[in-house]
Amino acid sequence: MQTYDNIINGKPLASTETFESYNPATSEVLGLVARSTDVQIGQAIAAARKAQPAWAALPDANRREYLVKAAAVLEENAAYLAELVTREQGKPLTGPGSQFEIQACVDWTNVPADLELPVEVVFEDETRRDELHRKPLGVIAAIAPWNWPLLIATWQIMPSIRAGNTVVIKPSEYTPIGTLEMVRLISKVLPEGVINTVSGDGTVGRRLCENPDIDKIMFTGSAATGKKIIQASSENLARLTLELGGNDPAIVLPDADPAAIAEGLFWGAFINQGQTCACAKRLYVHEDIHDAVVAKLKGLAEAMPMGNGLNDGIVLGPVQNRRQLDIVSRLTEDAKARGATIVCGGNSIDGPGNFFPVTLVTDIENDAPLVQEEQFGPVLPVIRYSNTDDAIGMANEGDTGLGASVWSSDTEKAAAVAGRLDAGTVWINRHGVIHPMVPFGGAKKSGFGLEFGIEGLKALTQPQIISISKAEAA
Ligand code: NAD
Repeated sequence: MQTYDNIINGKPLASTETFESYNPATSEVLGLVARSTDVQIGQAIAAARKAQPAWAALPDANRREYLVKAAAVLEENAAYLAELVTREQGKPLTGPGSQFEIQACVDWTNVPADLELPVEVVFEDETRRDELHRKPLGVIAAIAPWNWPLLIATWQIMPSIRAGNTVVIKPSEYTPIGTLEMVRLISKVLPEGVINTVSGDGTVGRRLCENPDIDKIMFTGSAATGKKIIQASSENLARLTLELGGNDPAIVLPDADPAAIAEGLFWGAFINQGQTCACAKRLYVHEDIHDAVVAKLKGLAEAMPMGNGLNDGIVLGPVQNRRQLDIVSRLTEDAKARGATIVCGGNSIDGPGNFFPVTLVTDIENDAPLVQEEQFGPVLPVIRYSNTDDAIGMANEGDTGLGASVWSSDTEKAAAVAGRLDAGTVWINRHGVIHPMVPFGGAKKSGFGLEFGIEGLKALTQPQIISISKAEAA
């Protein structure tokens, strides 16, 4: 069985300890992964620290060229990496699956390569000129989740190195192999030590984050872990970007056309089997069109083939891990016990894989755990409403505020509702459609800081004011 090592200083580093990574569609062990020891975590950080000054000192144009080379490596290895993602994470090769994920990695590398952070003159008069310059922060610790293992790693790595930082990344212990392979391939075209990896569970993550040599932590994952990251950073005062959980509402206004919106709603809720931070996780549908919208979604759910994502024609895969499958099952069973209607799906499928069919749940109260908690899986509660103010009120309940969406045939009407929703992004007539130029981040307890675009790049820099006196030097 192959063992996947960490990458430190551009070279593989084995460990005395290993752990297994599984295929969620079959439960077979895919490979062994080197678990980083405390000494190795220190080595990874030291490698990043050593490489950082020379990397930062390069002309900006050179760093841009390196990113373009990294994008080319991703493109050349797209088939290999996509297959690894399907085997390890579960999303199918086709549809909005692993090939789509790798293409997005290419885009999210090329776009930061293209961005400019020019010096800004923030104030000037006859006595002084004040310029805002952007310097790198130093060494970035990146902690990634298992749902989009290569794409989220790319979001963390590429703007960091573009801005002159170096990186130590820890993939999720559920999906380490794809990320380690991606870093191994990319690091071949980068100077030694610019990207390094450590692997293992939360203990390894904590050791990385609390190290005094870490300048910033880019974290994407659950709110519970986010709180631990804040604690870990209390000693080293590392800056933080926290992309945490969401429980995105989607509000369908009475004038929406069920046939026109059904497919967008379906993928807004069920892309990656609902295991996406900004999936629609609770649907509020006006009573006039509630039944028509549910019927359209049911038709789509029943037409979408689910299975091992390596097979032709499959567009829905398994839930990535047993822990998540248990959460999805528990919330669905609780909804049943409360008397909710299971329109389709409803039970996990026996077998070695973690399969749970697309499940639509109606006749459910807004205070049910399936509505109030993040299910992060293929089960969507649909709540009937009669008054838009009530729908907005329900949508704004709870601690999360990552994304939201409003669906209507009248964009202005939808925009008026959008402005009243407490979320970092509100989409109109789509959900979760992100773009590398458009800043993304959570409101309320869905995190803080922004990723993507100019704002995302600025977040990986230390602003420095150069304040110049215009009085003649004495
Ligand atoms: P998780 O919090 O369990 O794990 C995320 C990462 O943190 C893993 O690499 C894990 O090993 C690491 N970790 C665990 N404990 C740690 C500690 N004490 N110190 C440092 N690192 C530690 O999350 P998950 O289950 O992998 O991902 C699912 C969650 O991520 C969902 O809540 C989802 O909404 C959220 N998410 C958010 C975004 C976003 O952009 N806001 C994107 C994707 C996923």
